[in-house]
Amino acid sequence: MIEIRNLTVHYGRALAVDDVSLAFAAGTINCIIGSNGAGKSTILRTISGLVRPTSGQILFEGQPIQGLPPRAVVARGIAHVPEGRHVFPELTVEENLRIGAYLRNDRAAVRRDYDHVCAVFPRLAERRRQLALTLSGGEQQMLAIGRAIMAAPRLVLMDEPSMGLSPVMVATMADVIRSVNAEGKSVLLVEQNANVALSLAEDAAVLEQGRISLVGKAAQMKDDDHVRVAYIGV
Ligand code: ATP
Repeated sequence: MIEIRNLTVHYGRALAVDDVSLAFAAGTINCIIGSNGAGKSTILRTISGLVRPTSGQILFEGQPIQGLPPRAVVARGIAHVPEGRHVFPELTVEENLRIGAYLRNDRAAVRRDYDHVCAVFPRLAERRRQLALTLSGGEQQMLAIGRAIMAAPRLVLMDEPSMGLSPVMVATMADVIRSVNAEGKSVLLVEQNANVALSLAEDAAVLEQGRISLVGKAAQMKDDDHVRVAYIGV
């Protein structure tokens, strides 16, 4: 459902993503793991139209989307949960969630999705009139995921959802990601925390200095010696 063909991305003259090709099936959780600066966020930012690729193609449900503006990518059914959450600090939890649905006109369905997000994240429901800046890091991460769900996407891109969270919160986040997938949404996760990502994902790719060095089943990758030493630390 999402296919990346020979994607190359530069920032100015600096090469960030180097001839990457990947394909992930619909309805699954998949991940790209890699260390700092490997180019993981750049791939997600290019899919969602925030960065223009130098060359290559991105196909979503068989249609090319590379180079489309972010708004058009959201309209095609892709939502992005960025690294560092980027919730709107001066808006309430409820306002942040409603912004996620800004392109939708189906008011009854938006209302249903809002109620659904409140049911999935009772902590957000309790705090719906609170300003987002007053939430804890984990609550802000939930809000960023909730906001993405409000766009009614078929694919959710998640950039380092476990970053900065306590072990208990990481486990909660993993449950949330599984439940998002159980609703029929595909998830593409990028993570430095390979342990969590490989437990959640079906297929996985390792990115090193902008290039794919390994692809395969996540369950098998957990046992790969290089992956264990470099990304799991055991
Ligand atoms: P991290 O896990 O640390 O977030 P990453 O794998 O997501 O890393 P990217 O953020 O995609 O890596 O960065 C890939 C490369 O592109 C890095 O060398 C980074 O310094 C560079 N880069 C990223 N954003 C920009 C930018 N806006 N301008 C210039 N260079 C950038």
